[in-house]
This record gives sequence, C-alpha cells and structure tokens, in this order.
Amino acid sequence: MRKREESKTISEQIKKRSSGRAASAKKSEKKTVKKTEKKTEKKPDKAGTKKTAAKKTKAAKALEEKAAAVSKKLQRKQENREKNRPSLFTLEEAEKAKAEKLNNMKQPAKTAKASKKAAASKKSSRKTNEILPMTETAESMKPAVSAAESAAVIMAVQEDRRQRELSDLAKKKASAMIPDPSKKIKVIMLGGLEQIGMNITAFESENSIVVVDCGMAFPNEDMLGIDLVIPDISYLKERAQKIEGFFITHGHEDHIGALPYVLRELNVPVYATRLTRALIENKLREAELLDSAKLRTVEFGDFVGAGDFTVEFIKTNHSIQDAAALAIHSPAGVILHTGDFKVDYTPVFGDTIDLQRFAELGKNGVLALLCDSTNAVRQGFTMSERTVGKTFEAIFAEHTDKRIIVATFASNVDRVQQVINVAEKHGRKVVIDGRSMVNVIGTAAELGYIKLKEGTLIDISQIRNYPDEKIVLIVTGSQGESMAALSRMATGQHRKVSLSEKDVIIMSSTPIPGNEKAVSRVINELSRRHTKVIYQDTHVSGHACVEELKLIYALVHPKFSIPVHGEIRHRLAQREVALAIGVPKPNIIMADTGDVIELTSESCEIIDHVQAGPVLVDGLGVGDVGNIVLKDRQSLSQNGIIIVVMALERGSGQLVAGPDIVTRGFVYVRENEDLIEAAKDVILASVDRFQKSHNGDWAHMKNVIRDDLNSFIWRRLGRTPMILPIISEV
Ligand SMILES: [Zn+2]
Ligand SMILES: [Zn+2]
Repeated sequence: MRKREESKTISEQIKKRSSGRAASAKKSEKKTVKKTEKKTEKKPDKAGTKKTAAKKTKAAKALEEKAAAVSKKLQRKQENREKNRPSLFTLEEAEKAKAEKLNNMKQPAKTAKASKKAAASKKSSRKTNEILPMTETAESMKPAVSAAESAAVIMAVQEDRRQRELSDLAKKKASAMIPDPSKKIKVIMLGGLEQIGMNITAFESENSIVVVDCGMAFPNEDMLGIDLVIPDISYLKERAQKIEGFFITHGHEDHIGALPYVLRELNVPVYATRLTRALIENKLREAELLDSAKLRTVEFGDFVGAGDFTVEFIKTNHSIQDAAALAIHSPAGVILHTGDFKVDYTPVFGDTIDLQRFAELGKNGVLALLCDSTNAVRQGFTMSERTVGKTFEAIFAEHTDKRIIVATFASNVDRVQQVINVAEKHGRKVVIDGRSMVNVIGTAAELGYIKLKEGTLIDISQIRNYPDEKIVLIVTGSQGESMAALSRMATGQHRKVSLSEKDVIIMSSTPIPGNEKAVSRVINELSRRHTKVIYQDTHVSGHACVEELKLIYALVHPKFSIPVHGEIRHRLAQREVALAIGVPKPNIIMADTGDVIELTSESCEIIDHVQAGPVLVDGLGVGDVGNIVLKDRQSLSQNGIIIVVMALERGSGQLVAGPDIVTRGFVYVRENEDLIEAAKDVILASVDRFQKSHNGDWAHMKNVIRDDLNSFIWRRLGRTPMILPIISEV
C-alpha cells in the first residue's frame, strides 16, 4: 500500500472513473462539484428526513407518475422501432441491471427537478451520470438508453419509496421490541482491542449475525515485509448462513480496509452511508470485486432490518464526513456502537452529532455501549476542527511570499476542506499529491463532500505556471511514510517539487504511536533543506476526549459498557470515565480479541474465547506468512545467512567439490577472506570427523556442520547467522 504510493492526479482519477465521457476532466470536475453542491444544500440532513418522509412519499408518487408517462411514450417509440427484434432493455432488465446501482440514482431522483430533467432528456441524464460514476451500465446499454433511463428513474423512485417503507417498518419493529429476559446476544470481539486498527465486532442472536466494521491495521515494526494486517474471520465463515451483513460506521481504513479480503470469502450485503460507500467502492474496484459486491446506501435515521436485529444509523462527527454511530436493536435490548466520533458543535461541513437521538435512546434504555476509546486518556474536549482553520489562516497570512505545503492524512477530508477554504481566501491554487490522497479527496469532491470554487484545484504539472506564493500543496506523508509525497520531497526524490527556503511545511497531524521516529526523520530532512516546518496547533483529533465521553455516557446511560477502539491503556481510561459517570465496575467489560461476551437484559459477561486475531498480508499472499516465517525474517534481518555448498561421492562419501561458502548480510566476503578460509577449515574438519564415525546420513552431517560452524562464528564474532548446508551426492 504505502509501497505503491505514486503520484496520480485527481483529474486523472475522475477521468478514469468517468471513462467514456467526452467532457474534459477539468470541466467534469467543475460541473460535478457545482451540481453536487446544489444537491447537498437541497437535501435535508437526516434529522429532517423522518419529518419529511410523508411529504417525500407524496412527491415521489407524483414524480413516478410523470416519469411513467414519459417512459410509456418512449417505450412505444422503442417498440415500433424494434418490432422485429427483442427489446434490448425492458423494465425487468432495467430492474435487474439497476438493482445494485439504484442507491446512487436515488439521490438525484429525490429532487423533483433532477428527476424530471433525467426523465425528459438524455442529455440531462448524462449529467446525472457524471456525479454518479458507477452508473456506466446505462451508457453501455444503448440504443434503448432513453427508455432504460426513464425506467431507471421510476425504479429509483420506487426503490427510494420501498427503502423508506422498509426503514419505517424496521423502525416500528425496533421501537416495539421489548427486551426479553430469556434472549441472549453474543458480542464477538474480532478486533480493534489491541491497537488502533482492525476494527470488527460481531453481534449474534439465535438466528442472525450482524457485523460492525471490517478494518485493517498497519503491521508492527517486527512484522517484516508485511503490507497490512486483516482480521481472522474463521468464526464468521463457520456461521456464514446467519450473517445479515456488514454495517460500516465510516470510511477510514481501520474500518473498511479489510473488506476487499473478507468479501471474497463472505459475500454478504454491506450497509454504509454515501461517502463511506463510495470509498468502499474505490477499494472493491481495485480488487475487481465491485460487480459481485452487495453494497447498500443508508441515510442517517434509517433503520435496516437484519434478521433478529434492526440497525439504526445515527449521525456523528469525526474527521471524515458521513460517520455514523449504530444503534443495534436486539431482542435483549439496544446495543449502541459509537463508531469513531467526537462532538463538534461547529463542524466544518454538515451538522453536529445527533445528540438528541443519543438522549432519546438513553431515555428508552440502552443495554450496552461500545464506545470509542482513542482519546480517553486526554482530558477536556477535543477542539473543533474549525480551530485548525484559524491556525491555517494565521500561517497563510504570515507567509504570503512563500509556497505552502500541508501534510495530513489522506482520509482527513475535513482538514483538506479547511486548507482549500484558506487557499481560496488567499488566492492560492491547490494541488493534491499522493495516490491515496487523490483517491479519497477525488471521491469526496465528486460526491460534493468537499466544496471548492471552480479552478481552485490544479494539476501538479501546472505548478510551473504559477508563482510559488500562489500555490499550496496538500500531500500525504504526515506520518513519515517513506514512500509518501512528503518524504520524497524531503529527500529530493520528488519529480515535480524541489524544496528550498521559500517553502513552508505544515505538519497537520500528530504521529500515531510508533511513527514518532519516522516523523522526526522527515522533519530533520525538511529542515536540512532550509524549509520552515510548522507543527504547533495545526491538528485536532477526530476522537472524543474525556468530557465528550462523559457527555455520551450521561445521555445514553448504558447498563453495561464495553470500551472499544483502543489499546488496553485507552480502554482502561474509558473505564475510569464510565465509573465516574456511575456505571458499576462489574458492568464494565474489558475484553480481549477473541472474547465472546454474552449479553442478556440483566447480565453481561465473557463466556467464551474463539479463534481471532491478525492475519498477515504480504503482497498477494493472505495468511501464508505466520510466526515461523516472521522469526526467520527477523533472524535474517539481524544476522544474515551463510550457505555452505559441497559435493560428496556416493558410497565412499569422499569430498569431490567444495566446501564453498556464500554469505548474505553477514560479512563482506572479499574483505574477510581469512575468516572464510578458517570457516572452510572448520567444515573440512567436521566432514572428516563425521566420516570416521558415521556413514551416509546426510541430515546428521548437516547438523554437525551447522553446529561446528555456529560455535566457530560465535567465538570469532559473537554473531549467530542462519547456516544452511547444501550437500549433493555425485
Ligand atoms: Zn476513523
Ligand atoms: Zn478508527
């Protein structure tokens, strides 16, 4: 992943996604943003959706009728034209082809204007497609495209209605659920408890399983050569029939990163909000799984029926848009999973966390709370994302004569928005650099989750056309990743950007534990190039601190608490918060990966332990590198290897060739010929000794050589390289 980091521009990305469209990348980018912006403004946020549901249904009905009329007309035309051959695109076929794409269509179909346009003319429908890169199917189904498109609009409206009805139904069911003391729910902790990463938790009733998140983790330092770590899902695979789906809280790697691996083995529906879904689509497209995956878009306030469970999506704040908490309505009571969250009263984009809903749930009674522990060790409140904007503002105002480079997480969409806001104010052009950054920000911009003026974004190849002081670059590498854009700039390996004293670098993130050294190395390299590096007050966390946790506990008032999303020290800190707010100590469960917690309306305890933990991914190999391979890699990396090659005559056992010695990572042979010669003498002595006492047991002989050589090298150098004797019979 990090290895493959390479520069690819946003416009290239968008171009690629919108392949087949004639509009230039820049143009489409422009239109896209404009259009989606409009849409976002119009679309009431989820709190309002419930209220407007009735109104919507009425409007939808009118719409449907209109669209149906248009479609009928078009269909008649179509029939006349193609009397002698079968219709290329019937309503049923449209239904089939569109079934997976409808959630995308749903959004534009919601505003009367948009769907009227879409149904009325092909041209406007194409525009609709521009915001919706995943609807290429319609394009490829010409010539019946007009009928198909109008059919799709009808279907979208119908689907929207159906989903709303389903959601209302599920909601009714959920609110009618009375906790049954005889019902037991198992909570299976499959990840997210040893580190910040690999979040995945399963909830199991008698008949159903729902899984929350499916993330990956970065490898530890001792996992040599490992690209990433994903959760062991053996438990889920054995119960595949019961699984209703994955319910994803938000689009960060530690929550969605394992989906491309896991869906290959468990192709169940995946429910997510719009931006989260789009980011998942990016990953699945790369893994060539997009066509087979069953993705469903969910809006805040929606209830999803899932067997014995009903899952409700609740709006929260985080460092990326569309983050959700999940209320899992179960036969034993309501289990609330916060996902990653903070309480931001003045978010950069969108609304404040839906605290009313948290309170409402709390009032009705929440059985258990699974809450984000990341910042439980920090007192006070997490600052609003807007405070970073103020810092940026001051830095930009102070350095009007310099080029500015901001390094942050690729997934920190809100932060990128802030940089864009300030850049626009100061008349600077914005360049996005780094593959993962281009991917995430491209998707967010396409869907209208980033607001930017026309012409603000430029391609990195265009920076020469502008003076330095009119440029700001937003790049990856804030964690010191060696292949990321910032590191390449720092070491002079970046093809388009070379640094000088005319550059100001803003490090807009704090190092994740373990990355501190890499980050300080990059800062040193940057300083060596006479750039100014700023890292004070340039970052706020996306996770709740102690006071916010208290607020959530006070509102939700859970009977039981299961701290999640953090190392043990973070989760223990959350226990302190829970205790302070009045949750009795026995009601707070500190679980480990693999633990099975049994919840009833009256109890909560760890009752079992199942197979779980990290599965290592190295290149294309998943799970084929285990402890033994890792130990070898560690030994090789620390001591190197010596290979001893010789040939013996069959029968007599006489040495006919060798011994030759090849080493790697041990000593430089040419400068240590004495040592190598002495080692050969040791081997000859071993062979001699062996021949006198044994006959023809090569395995035993290899052991003798290994032991003798080992003690010789230990005496001479105090090292223990791996020794590999190779004996051939001739
Ligand atoms: Zn997150
Ligand atoms: Zn997370």
